[in-house]
Amino acid sequence: MNITWLGQSGFLVEVADQRLLIDPYFSDIVERKEGLRRLVPPPCRVEALAPHALFITHDHLDHYDPETVAAVMNTASGCRLIGPASVTAHAVRDGIPKERLTCIAPGGTFAIGPFRITGTQARHSDALAIGLLLRTPSECLWFSGDTLYFPELAACVRELAGGPPDIAFVCINGRLGNMNLHEAARVVAELRPRLAVPMHYGMFAENTADPAEFRSDCDGCGVRTALLTVGHCMRTARLLDTHLHCVPSPFSSS
Ligand SMILES: [Zn+2]
Repeated sequence: MNITWLGQSGFLVEVADQRLLIDPYFSDIVERKEGLRRLVPPPCRVEALAPHALFITHDHLDHYDPETVAAVMNTASGCRLIGPASVTAHAVRDGIPKERLTCIAPGGTFAIGPFRITGTQARHSDALAIGLLLRTPSECLWFSGDTLYFPELAACVRELAGGPPDIAFVCINGRLGNMNLHEAARVVAELRPRLAVPMHYGMFAENTADPAEFRSDCDGCGVRTALLTVGHCMRTARLLDTHLHCVPSPFSSS
């Protein structure tokens, strides 16, 4: 499995030749609509991603970027868009055919290729926002989506996953309805994944956090962390190794 960080909450997960794209923010629409300038460019062209499925956690511009969604859906002709009802409603308004959409709620499950997708609970200003539990034949990953901390969060994820996930990707920015890095580390401490990865930072100067501080908190509770670089991919076949192997993604040069 390769996991490439695309910036903010965006990831490309590859298993064999199957690709799942999550929350890609490739345009500068947040700057044009809300005045927040992106700090890092997209790591590749949208057209290079060619996913089989696109999962979007909620209907905010840094997650449902309508220009990126349109580019993905137009260039990847077989791609299915999966998300909560706020996302699928936005997609219908954008003219994406209903037969290419799958609506999912917390606890709901959908399988596509090697990916088994389950929605997890989130508490955010999009009331329908969800997180993503992603199971493949070899791994179990949890992406928090945008959410506040709440005491039942880790237990809900553990129950849906049947135990702690291998990797937890958690938002740490601490503003606009999201956990701060200490709360994110608290969820990690309760969840006990084999590896924790901070996300949703570094994209906007007005809305970021220091991942090193998150790492320090996780060190304190005995959970290993990986701090990713945008455009680099993590090869999880090496998860058991002492050194996590991160290399430039083939996408970053395209
Ligand atoms: Zn966000």
